Amino acid sequence: MKLGIIGAMEIEIELLRDDLELQNTLHKAGMDFYQGILHDKEVVLVRSGIGKVNAAICTQILIDQLNVDQIIFTGVAGAIDTTLEVKDIVISTDLVQHDMDASAFGHREVGEIPELDKVSFAADKNLISLAEDIGEEVTKQEDIQVVTGRILSGDQFIANKNKVKELKETFGGFCTEMEGAAVGQVAYLNDTPFVIIRSISDSADEEADISFDEFVKVAASHSYQIVTRMLDRL
Ligand code: SAH
Repeated sequence: MKLGIIGAMEIEIELLRDDLELQNTLHKAGMDFYQGILHDKEVVLVRSGIGKVNAAICTQILIDQLNVDQIIFTGVAGAIDTTLEVKDIVISTDLVQHDMDASAFGHREVGEIPELDKVSFAADKNLISLAEDIGEEVTKQEDIQVVTGRILSGDQFIANKNKVKELKETFGGFCTEMEGAAVGQVAYLNDTPFVIIRSISDSADEEADISFDEFVKVAASHSYQIVTRMLDRL
């Protein structure tokens, strides 16, 4: 079993890279794919860069050039559910591209990818349930919530309360970010199991940029904690 682990930003992968016994690095498409052993598991760790295009390229390379069998994304996100606070964790059930919109045709839902006829990409049930088990343990030790639900992705840093309301009403879901659904779509097209783990860095409101800068590090470390514990049980 070989596991691909993606983070969009350096801060989302640095703790994992510190733990990695590095064996080889592939440099491709502007990304460094670190191959090695992490918690006794064969892994490829990579920083995809921000946004859906980067995430899609990265996921495809992991699958067809580095032969990973499963993919975990670790990172931070903006909350769109008002019950969530900074540092809380969201485990993906499914992912939607909130900026995909061909609804002008009348027969397409907002978020639906035309001709693929899909709105959302489901994460792997086994990876979800493993993350949930670990989430339960973490909530006993730390004062954070861990929820499982839909995650939204789009090529926009959301920092507007009205937009959050609109996203929540249109798609439901717990948080919004910029990569997960692209990983989900590529994984779906290649029949590869995946899960997205996100820790809340901000509330996607008018203070999101300030909150992000303040909490990105601690949020990234919470997501890291879940992922390393998952590795121990895979
Ligand atoms: N600080 C960076 C930009 C970060 S973009 C710079 O200026 O260069 C935000 C990153 O965190 C993305 O990878 C996204 O997945 C996630 N994210 C966190 N909060 C978000 C929000 N409110 N809206 C969208 N993405 C968010």
